[in-house]
Amino acid sequence: MVSGESLHHPPDEHEEYPPIRCDACRAALQSPDGMPSFLLLDQLTVPLVGCTDHLTQFKTVCGYTTTATAELLNHRPAGGVGCPSCHLAVHNPQQPVVQVQDGAVALLACPRHQSEIINRFHTGLDTQHQLEAQFETFS
Ligand SMILES: [Zn+2]
Ligand SMILES: [Zn+2]
Repeated sequence: MVSGESLHHPPDEHEEYPPIRCDACRAALQSPDGMPSFLLLDQLTVPLVGCTDHLTQFKTVCGYTTTATAELLNHRPAGGVGCPSCHLAVHNPQQPVVQVQDGAVALLACPRHQSEIINRFHTGLDTQHQLEAQFETFS
């Protein structure tokens, strides 16, 4: 586990988005006043912004990293956002985005939960690639 508050992101992270080819994602990211969706993964509740397609893909990939089911809500969950720092982050539109194929999803979470979800996403991608490689081998 990494301890400490600071994440070593490049300083220009908040100023340049990667090119986003999905118009629906771009529109969602450019209207930060809109209601975010919520990813429920294990005990984590993380607000997300993106188009429905790419949010669903993001959820599916993260779902590979849990034995429980990853869930996507388009309303605030009944229990609210458990982490107070994530709760505050919802109101900060300048959040890093994660590329999901040709779209992008913004994580409106505190740095700790952001990096946790991004790690899960990358682990999930590896799993997905392994599964796809197996399908190709056997078909
Ligand atoms: Zn999209
Ligand atoms: Zn948090």
